Amino acid sequence: MEQVAIIDLSAEKVTCQDIPEEVLRLYLGGEGLNAYLLYNHLPPGVDPLSPDNVLIFGTGLVSGGDVSSSRFEVTAKSAEGEGGFGTSNSGGFWSAELKYAGFQHLVIKGKASRPTYLWIHDGEIEFRDASFLWGRDTYESQELIWDDLGSQQVQVALIGQAGENLVRFANIMHGLKRAAGRTGMGCIMGSKMLKAIAVRGTKGLNVNNPAQLLEIYADHYRQITSTKIYPVISRYGTLTIFCVQNQSGMISVKNNQYNYFAEAEGHLDDEIFEEQYKTKTLACFACPLRCSHRYRIPSGPYTGVWGEGPEFYMMAGFGPAVGNADWDCILAANTLINRYGLDVGSTSGYIAWLMELWQRGIIDEKDTGGLNLEWGNKEAILALLHQMAKNEGLGGMIGQHASQSAKIIGRGADRYLYTQRGMMHESPQNTRASRATSLAEATASRGSDHLKGRCALEFFAMPTEILAKIYGRPIASDFRSWDGKPWMAVWTQHFTTVVDSLGYCKFATIYPGSTHNLGYKQFCETVNAIKGWDVTVEELMETGERIWNLERIFIQRETGILREGDIPPAIYFQPQPLEPLKGEKLVRDEYNRALDEYYEIRGWTKEGAPTKETLERLKLDREPSHLI
Ligand code: SF4
Repeated sequence: MEQVAIIDLSAEKVTCQDIPEEVLRLYLGGEGLNAYLLYNHLPPGVDPLSPDNVLIFGTGLVSGGDVSSSRFEVTAKSAEGEGGFGTSNSGGFWSAELKYAGFQHLVIKGKASRPTYLWIHDGEIEFRDASFLWGRDTYESQELIWDDLGSQQVQVALIGQAGENLVRFANIMHGLKRAAGRTGMGCIMGSKMLKAIAVRGTKGLNVNNPAQLLEIYADHYRQITSTKIYPVISRYGTLTIFCVQNQSGMISVKNNQYNYFAEAEGHLDDEIFEEQYKTKTLACFACPLRCSHRYRIPSGPYTGVWGEGPEFYMMAGFGPAVGNADWDCILAANTLINRYGLDVGSTSGYIAWLMELWQRGIIDEKDTGGLNLEWGNKEAILALLHQMAKNEGLGGMIGQHASQSAKIIGRGADRYLYTQRGMMHESPQNTRASRATSLAEATASRGSDHLKGRCALEFFAMPTEILAKIYGRPIASDFRSWDGKPWMAVWTQHFTTVVDSLGYCKFATIYPGSTHNLGYKQFCETVNAIKGWDVTVEELMETGERIWNLERIFIQRETGILREGDIPPAIYFQPQPLEPLKGEKLVRDEYNRALDEYYEIRGWTKEGAPTKETLERLKLDREPSHLI
């Protein structure tokens, strides 16, 4: 039976409970069960940084039991933006380890009286003094924890200085690059004086039909490794997206002023990274895709800097978004961001915004403490990053106040700040030309979210017959058309929610646009072999819808912001300036009509609230049910 541990940091007390089968089947695990636990355990209306906020860690339902299913989700009331649904997930090894240690979810309440780390091993949970770790970065801290516990097999999820200093967009990190980013889960962890959670488990999994699971595992392995995307992703990882997205005119350049970055040509690409920097290929637990890299900078001012990653988001966020075409600077920033535990999207987004304010003369050296914020100024980029993490200078002010910092600066600075639900718009993204993706990202629970809203198949001009087969309804092939796109957005949001509740990595699924990767059918196979259930594709789809609606009523309860929070940043309604998508933009009336249709499909009111009938249909009318 899967277990949840309720951990009270204030009283240093742990209570363990079996997860009722009924709750497990309704919400699965990972994001879904985290959402259930948050809705049930969080006292309504609390300040995100108060001890009353609840920080929940959850492994996916099948984590540790299938290929590429190693993700864990962290959920709380958000530290970033309007204080709504905060959630984020990370790959690596921690998730499977927690499962093997006997827990699927941890509900962390209260606040420790001193820096603390949790040591979880085979059903035991210990509170340990973390004073010797406080003030240290994530790389150092993990090594010190290994020394303290006498084993490098211990997996650690932790915060760096950014989380300790309550930076609103601090991450929870794991390993050298794995990050639960967005919505400031690291900030919440820091507010609880919780430095780390170290885990080691040897208990194995509870599997209903082990022989069948082994066969399924082998099938899924073969399936993932025989797709067309496999050789590319296992060599370059997400860096391979960069050139395609830049040359398609779908990238944010200089804080979204442009959509193509000519300076990147011949400088920023995946092959240059491989030839000049890459030292190793790495993977998460049981993942044949091995999309990750280790690197070392061989020469120049950052000689010897090493780390893991970077992802497309780092490359684009610290590249074109801030007007920089220098790989060394991107990699140096990547190492710092992982050591401090900062979110890539928000950190680079705020730096890009400050650079545009400088360009327009809205801020000058008096505001920056002497830093010259010209586009691509490497020293300034890295200096702001240090400041954010350490809460010093202008960067420190941004880290503490995030979207409120536009008000602090004044002088019309808010005009160039692109946030949604008060959270920094994902800085590298510029998908305004694509209708389903714009809608699905903007209506995502945490706002501006490609991990929930990217409708990759929209970009490939696939025949309508194939799209209809996948989505079950007619969808236009042209990414500029709205026909069928509200449904495509809804379908994608439910799919990604199920993926994040089961614990799969999205790259092993059809999410990146590879229709031969894992989908609902394969998810059912694994769930049924592990749990002995008889779930169907339809049931899983409805589960995705249930979780999505639960998050929505959480947002309604905690913020009251519904329809007005579902609109993309203002820049999406302005035309793209450069080819090949010159002139493309969203049109407000069209977007609003699509939003109406999206609400109608969902069974929501015109204001964006789930109706009573919808809540009853999804068995949400009983929440909070307090079954855990
Ligand atoms: S595809 Fe990459 S991020 Fe996903 S599980 Fe595999 S190695 Fe990890």
